Amino acid sequence: MAGILFIISAPSGSGKSTIVNQLRSLVAGLEFSVSWTTRGPRGSEVDSREYHFTTREYFEEMIRNGEFLEHAEVFGALYGTARSTLRAAFAQGRDLLLDIDVQGAAQVRQKCPEAVSIFLMPPSPEVLATRLRNRSRAEGDANEKKIERRLAKAKQEIENYREYDYILVNDVLDRAVEEMAAIVAAERIRRNGANGTPDGQRALELAERCRTANSEDRIRPVLEAFGVRKE
Ligand code: 5GP
Repeated sequence: MAGILFIISAPSGSGKSTIVNQLRSLVAGLEFSVSWTTRGPRGSEVDSREYHFTTREYFEEMIRNGEFLEHAEVFGALYGTARSTLRAAFAQGRDLLLDIDVQGAAQVRQKCPEAVSIFLMPPSPEVLATRLRNRSRAEGDANEKKIERRLAKAKQEIENYREYDYILVNDVLDRAVEEMAAIVAAERIRRNGANGTPDGQRALELAERCRTANSEDRIRPVLEAFGVRKE
């Protein structure tokens, strides 16, 4: 039986990698897709662990050969999910988590309508700006223009939140991780049959509260702070 495809998207600097890394130790049977990219490795990144780093020429050849489920250009570099990554995960009976941007998420939704998509929001532009500044300082690249560009892009990405099945707000890290784990558990229960255990019930209730349609009150202040119009 094919596994479940989870998608997580978030503006750059929302703390997505931290959440995804914590999820790894909490949730069994969930594979993390390693994307291809033409950008260079950052900090302690290792080839084929964080990304498959490659050249634009090779990436474009992969596009021509139809090797990508989706691909997009983000901040001047190409990123893509190889079809072979999905095949390998599902052949082993594992679910797969794709950490991709909003353009890639839209492509996957079209090709795999059963995919479950999650949008992670930073709590405010101020928190996002602080995280972006800390990260670029740690990487020895404190460039205000780059930070301004990422903040503007964050607003554009947040405008797409309604396309996603679930919304998380990364104000309290542990809570966001717990909600993410609950969404995975709830979707597994939904697809594999009823689960009457107290843990299962709790996951279903928590995940339900994170559904986009049920999150309006929680995300209203975030949308207002980013100047995103609701309608
Ligand atoms: P970063 O360079 O900071 O690791 O990632 C920049 C953006 O590219 C993030 O929003 C990340 O989700 C997105 N991204 C990473 N891999 C892929 C991919 O395979 N496809 C798409 N469409 N976006 C990706």
